[in-house]
Amino acid sequence: MSASVLPRQSTAPLYAAIRDVPDFPKPGIVFKDIMPILADPATLRLSIDLFEEACLALPAKVDKIVGIDARGFLFGAALAYKMGLGFIAVRKSGKLPGKTEAVAYTLEYGESTVEMLSDALHPGESVVLIDDLLATGGTAAAAIKLIEKLGAKTMGALFLVELEFLGGRARLDGVPVTALLKY
Ligand code: AMP
Repeated sequence: MSASVLPRQSTAPLYAAIRDVPDFPKPGIVFKDIMPILADPATLRLSIDLFEEACLALPAKVDKIVGIDARGFLFGAALAYKMGLGFIAVRKSGKLPGKTEAVAYTLEYGESTVEMLSDALHPGESVVLIDDLLATGGTAAAAIKLIEKLGAKTMGALFLVELEFLGGRARLDGVPVTALLKY
């Protein structure tokens, strides 16, 4: 049997590792704590293997992995290492030294801004965006705009968890979304 027809590994161990924390960081929010996945070598490996599969399934060559502050860095850097690609950070405002580009977006209450170094990506590059969780999609949509601002193109967006009831993927301008776990 060739590798391409091997059955996809089960995500059951990933679902089992996610910890629900009610009313964090504020009342009414059920926080999905993904840290136990990183703490266990088997689920860490499984998550990165499945992210790599999703990346390889994209119908385009990928030049870089772009991760969103902060948990997107953890999965993104491991994925980039596994795929032999470079890793670039999208950061919350005020963290990056040097010339930056910024995109502001609306949160449930107030505004936030994401930034990248102006020379982090080169015009024409193809990237894959990664974060731990897709909720309303505001953060990922802003990151996609930022990538565009630098002249690069987002070929796909990967998330460990998607909260489908919040409809975030509809905000991602037609960028193909893969989520390993869905609620
Ligand atoms: P959004 O912009 O609404 O899609 O929110 C996505 C960002 O907020 C991600 O970087 C997540 O890490 C974080 N986030 C939002 N909701 C949750 C949640 N219920 N549990 C854990 N993280 C969350």
